[in-house]
Amino acid sequence: MVSRLIEVGDFDLVIFGATGDLARRKILPGLFRRHAAGQFPAASRIIGAARSDMDTEGYRREARDAIAEFGPRDADEAQIASFLDCLAYVAIDVTGERGWSELGALMRPDVVQAFYFSVAPALFGDIAERLARHAIAGPDARIVVEKPFGRDLASARALNATLARHFEERQIYRIDHYLGKETVQNLMAVRFANMLFEPLWNVHYIDHVQITVAETVGVAGRGAYYDQSGAMRDMVQNHLMQLVCLIAMEPPWHFDPDAVRDEKLKVIRALEPVPPGDIVRGQYAAEDGDPGYRDDVENPDSRTESFVALKLRIANWRWQGVPFYLRTGKRLRDRTSEIAVVFREPPHLIFDDHAEQQANQLVIRLQPNEGMNLRVNIKEPGPGGMRLVQVPLDMSFAEALGKEGRDMPDAYERLITDVIRGNQTLFMRGDEVEAAWAWADPIIAAWENASAAPESYDPGTSGPDQALGLMHRDGRRWREIKA
Ligand code: NAD
Repeated sequence: MVSRLIEVGDFDLVIFGATGDLARRKILPGLFRRHAAGQFPAASRIIGAARSDMDTEGYRREARDAIAEFGPRDADEAQIASFLDCLAYVAIDVTGERGWSELGALMRPDVVQAFYFSVAPALFGDIAERLARHAIAGPDARIVVEKPFGRDLASARALNATLARHFEERQIYRIDHYLGKETVQNLMAVRFANMLFEPLWNVHYIDHVQITVAETVGVAGRGAYYDQSGAMRDMVQNHLMQLVCLIAMEPPWHFDPDAVRDEKLKVIRALEPVPPGDIVRGQYAAEDGDPGYRDDVENPDSRTESFVALKLRIANWRWQGVPFYLRTGKRLRDRTSEIAVVFREPPHLIFDDHAEQQANQLVIRLQPNEGMNLRVNIKEPGPGGMRLVQVPLDMSFAEALGKEGRDMPDAYERLITDVIRGNQTLFMRGDEVEAAWAWADPIIAAWENASAAPESYDPGTSGPDQALGLMHRDGRRWREIKA
């Protein structure tokens, strides 16, 4: 597999929040990798903007540290030096007046302009307004905003309205980094570039879909933020919803931003409300001296969920009667993210010894070891009876790409490059985000009004027993949580 590199146009990229955690861990290392790969023209510029008093040399030192810590192991000194040459820094107060004229003076009007809002969402309005007032952003400038995009429908609408005062939808790039994952894009390739799956991709051949995003870590360190959010807002409304959309959407007429996003929006609009009996929320308990969720968030009465499992129904011709089971949580058995499309059993089994025959599954692994495998039943090799065994047809992308000596690209690398190219396909449109909140709001509101607390679960397990019951009562089973 030989990768094709197409250089992007000249650009000025401003990172607001340039000294923050996200900039250090993801944005700068991602930009460095693309630069080192030769994708950025020599004249492109990355301008850090944050509150800290620092000059460009100081910021270059910070960026060097970030690359050493979070960049590629084999980073070449000449490549690092050439990347650092592209960096500049402006000390700015996004809620005040300091720094804006310096930033304006640095920006070139005749190149692609992108502004990455890597700050708390409460500051988005301040930045958008000042970019407009100081005439810093040209008519084709792009802005990139991070999650969380609202905490309910009303706040998401307000945020969209704030951005819309100064930018058109075609200029707004709402990041959901799950969409930048290689496997997630491959899901579209597998579905829409092959004849093999699409004819089977419906209620007649698919029994159910299960999506698991499991983490082993708790919320220690970001407890104050997390306790105001919870798994539903932090994971389900955005990341898991995007995965549901890509599995369930109709083929778009073209791989084009609005064509893809129109189809995703139709899926979200077709989601049925989730009855209380189809949803389980949980909180990890303390164990063997390890703190539980309530200790981690320092709130002994917290009713925020660190785990959610739910059964989703999509009311349209393709999916009527095919449940989508979703679960995500912290302090679970293993760190793994996967989608499993579980096919129906053959209508008639001809082999006597068919005890081992299992339904086919297409398993799409997002982490670890991104890849897909299709589980098929074959005859167990060797003499003797006709015994069946299920084996995976494995498509491990890391292995395939690894042979060429290439790392798997990080989601941020891909997404930031798309911003510079002006391709919104892998970014969420405003109406999509609002539709997802319109679906999630009643569930969250019901929890807030309920007297019951989330179910407790032991760390290192698959979550509360009730989540297992959600599938057992339908005669189905979750796949094991295993990396
Ligand atoms: P952070 O607190 O580490 O950094 C915040 C940055 O904003 C700093 O550079 C700070 O100087 C700057 N800032 C704050 N107030 C400012 C002001 N008045 N003027 C100028 N600069 C100001 O935050 P973070 O973790 O980097 O997160 C940034 C955004 O990305 C948030 O919206 C967060 O929700 C989102 N996000 C972060 C992560 C992550 O892994 N850190 C993941 C997903 C989304």
